[in-house]
Amino acid sequence: MNFRAFLNTISNTARTLPIVIFYVTEGCNLKCLSCSYRDALPGELSFDEIKTLAKSLKAFGLKHIVYSGGEPLLRRDFTDICELFSGMKVKQTLLTNGLLLDKRAGDISKYFTEIIVSIDGGTPGTHNRLRGVNSFELILRGIEKTLSLKDAPVVSIRTVLQKNNFRELGDMIKLAKTAGVKRISFLAADVSSDAYGRDTRGKVSDSNSIALNENEVEELRNIINKLAESNKNDFSSGFISESPAKLHHIADYYEALLGKCAFPKNLCNAPMVSAVITSTGDIHPCFFLPSFGNIRKSGFDPLINSDSVKSTRRQVRNYELTRCHECVCTLYTSTIAALKDRF
Ligand code: SF4
Ligand code: SF4
Repeated sequence: MNFRAFLNTISNTARTLPIVIFYVTEGCNLKCLSCSYRDALPGELSFDEIKTLAKSLKAFGLKHIVYSGGEPLLRRDFTDICELFSGMKVKQTLLTNGLLLDKRAGDISKYFTEIIVSIDGGTPGTHNRLRGVNSFELILRGIEKTLSLKDAPVVSIRTVLQKNNFRELGDMIKLAKTAGVKRISFLAADVSSDAYGRDTRGKVSDSNSIALNENEVEELRNIINKLAESNKNDFSSGFISESPAKLHHIADYYEALLGKCAFPKNLCNAPMVSAVITSTGDIHPCFFLPSFGNIRKSGFDPLINSDSVKSTRRQVRNYELTRCHECVCTLYTSTIAALKDRF
């Protein structure tokens, strides 16, 4: 039982922080058209600083750390970081572009419960074009290598569905099957914020070249409807993480961006049970909402229940923020799941 997490879900004060998403670096070895992360930032947290942070997080009840970036495997001391949290018995998940898995899977897979690989197309041409680097084959080899290991972690594929790949939805499901992964999940492309590296540091595609137009939304809906018939078992078994209705939410989102309907209603309490920590120590209540401070300036403890974050939690709970209405990636932990310590 985790009473502290339970209390989190019913109030705006965090008694514990079970989930942390940690951008270990903003360096990346791909050049995605929709993202400007390329080089590691100057002044990313040192291993000593991460050790101090890890102690504070553990003392505050950390259960599950999700590594993101940039590309986490590019960080030279990444194995040390995994070892550190492993020693604290924290569950670890890796979000990776998969390019280095072929080389590194043997060393690092043992740390993870799940490795989530992002793939942007069901064909090499689409994936490579959107990712800016010929990487498709190497990523699939990395997945194969990981799955061949004794005690391999769960491997899954995640795809951001957008204008340039939505017609390959069926191909992506076939690809996931051929690759032998546990499941595939889909989300819409965020075009409303600088989350996921859409900032001013590099040239990224404008929203019109990512978001679907009216005809394309219709086409996506038809594709989903056909898949709902042809891939019934994949939906019911959870191999496709989202139900057909949930996939239609992606179409709803793009339709709402065109001003044709309201954004689909989101259920999210990410700021009550989690935080995002960037490679330079900024803490955010989730991927999309502004930072409420930096751990270098004030340490971790005073930030986690600052007035500003408590006010954000209240606004999220009351569904007051436009950003929440337009959100593409939510996280919801029910009161029961929190009480049962399911993180
Ligand atoms: S979207 Fe991910 S893989 Fe692509 S450039 Fe950005 S950080 Fe790298
Ligand atoms: S709905 Fe999105 S923007 Fe709002 S708190 Fe959840 S993750 Fe953050």
